[in-house]
Amino acid sequence: MSTYDLIIRNGYVVLPNEVKKADVAIQNGVIIKIGNLLDDTGLEEYEAGNQYVFPGMIDVHVHFSEPGRAHWEGFETGSRMLAAGGCTTYFDMPLNGIPSTIDETALLEKAKAGEANSVVDFGLWGGLVPGNVEELEGLANSGVIGFKAFLSATGNDEFERADDFTLLQGMREIARLDKILALHAESDHITQFLKQEKEEQGLFSPDDYAATRPLLAEAEAVERALTYAEVTGCRLHFVHISSSLAMEKIEAAKQRGLDITVETCPHYLLFNQDTLIEKGTVAKCAPPLREKAEQDKLIALLIEGRFDMISSDHSPCPYELKDPATHNLFEAWGGISGGQFSLQTMVELAITYEIPFQKVADWTAGTPAERFGLSSRKGQIKEGKDADIAVVSLNDTHTVTEDNFFAKHKQSVYMGHTFPCKVTATFKHGKLVYEKGEIRHQGRGTWLRSMAIEPSI
Ligand code: ZN
Repeated sequence: MSTYDLIIRNGYVVLPNEVKKADVAIQNGVIIKIGNLLDDTGLEEYEAGNQYVFPGMIDVHVHFSEPGRAHWEGFETGSRMLAAGGCTTYFDMPLNGIPSTIDETALLEKAKAGEANSVVDFGLWGGLVPGNVEELEGLANSGVIGFKAFLSATGNDEFERADDFTLLQGMREIARLDKILALHAESDHITQFLKQEKEEQGLFSPDDYAATRPLLAEAEAVERALTYAEVTGCRLHFVHISSSLAMEKIEAAKQRGLDITVETCPHYLLFNQDTLIEKGTVAKCAPPLREKAEQDKLIALLIEGRFDMISSDHSPCPYELKDPATHNLFEAWGGISGGQFSLQTMVELAITYEIPFQKVADWTAGTPAERFGLSSRKGQIKEGKDADIAVVSLNDTHTVTEDNFFAKHKQSVYMGHTFPCKVTATFKHGKLVYEKGEIRHQGRGTWLRSMAIEPSI
């Protein structure tokens, strides 16, 4: 008989290859034993009572906008919101904060804010923008998880899109540094050209907005990035891919051996262009929510296992920037606020389409950990990994309201949506950080500097 710090009892544990009724023993923040542990005791015991025990989500794509625009979200509210959704690690994007994370000084400043305020672990992306190629090595040496660039306009004056020459130079350097470049892939030329046409005609409806960012704009940018990756040898990660056309190109490039991963976001799977028509600016994002037929194709690709991972792209702003009274759809800030609901969305889709929960765990934790160098410590419920855990009930539903959405600003496309499941508890390093509607803050999160990630035991 052994005594552990904590035993999570009687859950259906989502292991890498199966879901198994088991107890999980945790010591010093690390998973020590999984199985029938009736003979063992925990200093604390948590009765999971037939709920599902998932690995804590690793959300590789959020925008917390701190320092500089913490009033948009910030590490404190943002990390609490993620914890309430079963997320225990996230990677913050290099734009929307001031300064942008495009040199070492800015990186360290952001890391300090994160270490002071985040309640879960985090990594930080560095930016590739025109003129900062010589900063990439310093950013890599200081521990960025990877780099991010935009092929289309960012909507943010402090973070310019990468022109083609910058992309080529940056990719060559990022390959040398053995890092990954994440790309927002939409053609700037196509989107600007179509936007200008619509503006000249005074057309600002949801359908007009969607028409300015067609599937072809995404596919063209993806194709170009793939060619540049082949020229430079750079590893790529495509963020928020929203079309089957782009996926065809990515799939073909994978087949010919390019080292590429691809994410999509819950909102492209759960919503479509009708939602933009119905809900307006809270449903504005880029690429835009697609037509129902395209949404169905994305779900089919998900079921086939074509997406490597799922990220939220949580990208909130104060409501004034989305207020339809003062902004038409073209002017309103684009970005979906909903980082709390990624795991629940994927569980909903898994229930609807009979997708095994192991796949959900893989998309939300296993593959992100593997791809970004965290797998010695994170990403699976397994002996030796950090006890980062999300407990999900299928016996409860969860209707999103202002009271149970933990983001700083409550306007969201998810408002009013009812999930057929509920995250009831989140453990970070074996400590309860969230339980039944309450944040139970136990210590700060750690900045996961990419070169310093060692096994916990
Ligand atoms: Zn984003």
